[in-house]
Amino acid sequence: MAVAPQDGVRAPAAARERLEAVPAPNFIRAIVADDARTGKYGGRVVTRFPPEPNGYLHYGHAKSVILNFGIARENGGRCHLRFDDTNPLKEDVEYEASIEESVRWLGYDWGEHLYHASDYYDRLYEFAEWFIGQGLAYVDSQSADEMRATRGTLTEPGRPSPYRDRTPAENLDLFRRMRAGEFPDGAHVLRLRIDMASPNVNMRDPAIYRIRHASHHRTGDKWCVYPLYDYTHCISDALERITHSICTLEFQDHRPLYDWVIARLADGGRLERPLPQQIEFARLKLTYVVLSKRKLIQLVDGGHVDGWDDPRMPTLVGARRRGFTPEGFRLMAERTGVSKSDAWIDMSVLEDAMRDDLNERAERRVAVLDPIRLVIDNYPEGASETCHAPNHPQKPERGRRGLRFARELWIERDDFAEVPPKGYFRLSPGAEVRLRHAYIVRCVGVEKDAAGNVAVVHCTYDPGTRSGTPGAEARKVKGNIHWLAVDEAVPAEVRLYDRLFRVPFPGDRNPWGTRGEPDAPAAAAAKVAGDDDDEAGLLERDFLDDLNPDSRRVIVAQVEPALALAPPEARYQFERAGYFVADRVDHVPGRPVYNRTVTLKDSWSGRQP
Ligand code: ATP
Ligand code: MG
Repeated sequence: MAVAPQDGVRAPAAARERLEAVPAPNFIRAIVADDARTGKYGGRVVTRFPPEPNGYLHYGHAKSVILNFGIARENGGRCHLRFDDTNPLKEDVEYEASIEESVRWLGYDWGEHLYHASDYYDRLYEFAEWFIGQGLAYVDSQSADEMRATRGTLTEPGRPSPYRDRTPAENLDLFRRMRAGEFPDGAHVLRLRIDMASPNVNMRDPAIYRIRHASHHRTGDKWCVYPLYDYTHCISDALERITHSICTLEFQDHRPLYDWVIARLADGGRLERPLPQQIEFARLKLTYVVLSKRKLIQLVDGGHVDGWDDPRMPTLVGARRRGFTPEGFRLMAERTGVSKSDAWIDMSVLEDAMRDDLNERAERRVAVLDPIRLVIDNYPEGASETCHAPNHPQKPERGRRGLRFARELWIERDDFAEVPPKGYFRLSPGAEVRLRHAYIVRCVGVEKDAAGNVAVVHCTYDPGTRSGTPGAEARKVKGNIHWLAVDEAVPAEVRLYDRLFRVPFPGDRNPWGTRGEPDAPAAAAAKVAGDDDDEAGLLERDFLDDLNPDSRRVIVAQVEPALALAPPEARYQFERAGYFVADRVDHVPGRPVYNRTVTLKDSWSGRQP
């Protein structure tokens, strides 16, 4: 499996801060810097993030958001948010609100520069008439099948349509009647008149307008002809005076068309120079998830997850609920860089970025996830004292908090072993451990329930070993376990989330990727067949068969009172367990609900089929 060299490597905090402060060089930053040097855009840097409002943003979009808004921010420029709403059938205002919220959550703001491609329908139409007038566009009345059949292949040129030589007057009349609603869907299209023999299929008289008798969520029934993506996008960029139009690699072959359209319009005095330039980069492809909209919809509709913001979903609303951080996404984006060729990034790169960010910002708290009772036989009944735990071991300025110590405590069930395996340094009969921030205890016996399971662990403590008192550290013990006083701890619902899929390439015929790469020829074939799902064609099996059956386990844990009182979305490290976030939907102070964001250590690397 090809993964980024950064795979699994966690930069030390200092290196990470350096990374964030001084962005690493990459080819896009180099182009922008070059343009600044030559004055190509008079010092302006204007980018845009152009989502289609037909779904929720996912981890891959985060990369694009961070790149576009990041480049603008670094260069004192600006980034527009533009909804690419040219398909009247698929779009929805609900998605727009969610997309805006996710971009803001990532830490970016478009100011007053919120646009819709549909804002430009009048201009796009006017330009189309101009192209017709120039003899550069014609109405084609072939059927879709005929057009496909005459388009040629990668090795054969296309054949001209019998309608290619219609006069401008005839074309204009037909196009106006298309617009007036005289024809049914599919009766005609408007095509640019470029070159049917071009080696680039995209230049073989691409269609730029089609008839669609459909209501649009913003323009209503004003239009029954709608412009197509390639035509709309470059013109929208130029009208907004975008300088660098950053997109993913699949648009590389469309760049000549992008340039052709706006150059003609500029030559004709319709657009202002300098014109925007399209720059392509490799999309983010992550193992252990699916990012295609079609599959995400299947996960939700099939009830495999609890909606779009399920913490296991690779959506940004899901990420937020999971406890992932915007800074963690930025770190991931920096570490994976931008490249001109596709590569898979291992999920551990994203998870490590979250760990590294949370390690810095999350305060420590104690939770006992699988509690078993520990009784200190020689600690006076009814007595208690306060022990102090630092909120962040590397940041004393964050202070410390009190934890009540008493005769009856909760400890983790697996911190005790009646028959300890070799190398086990925690509690077992006769053995000693330190209760963190408190005393050393020795196990003196157990009580069992009717089924023979250990129900209570009995210990004695050594009053001379309290942490922080003189001589306390003189006695060395290897084990160091966390605990909570039974009469202070609060029960909490804790959702232990893990990866949604149990294999790196869900649905792939080779889901463990041991062959090296998912099947590239099959993917290419799918592309030629017009399947716009970039992951399609790799599939020979149902990706749903690769769901991880243990991706969510709900338990009742015992937590310290501070966790019960925290506000929603507060993030913590539960000592020795991982990073957790107070659920933004279900957690209310007093009735705590926590989601596991990520474990402290990667438990996935090295897993095999
Ligand atoms: P999908 O179908 O996977 O949701 P899309 O490309 O159809 O993706 P758009 O809403 O059209 O989604 O994309 C908005 C922007 O986000 C585009 O510029 C697109 O190139 C970028 N983008 C989408 N997916 C990724 C990804 N995996 N990595 C990087 N950028 C991406
Ligand atoms: Mg799209």
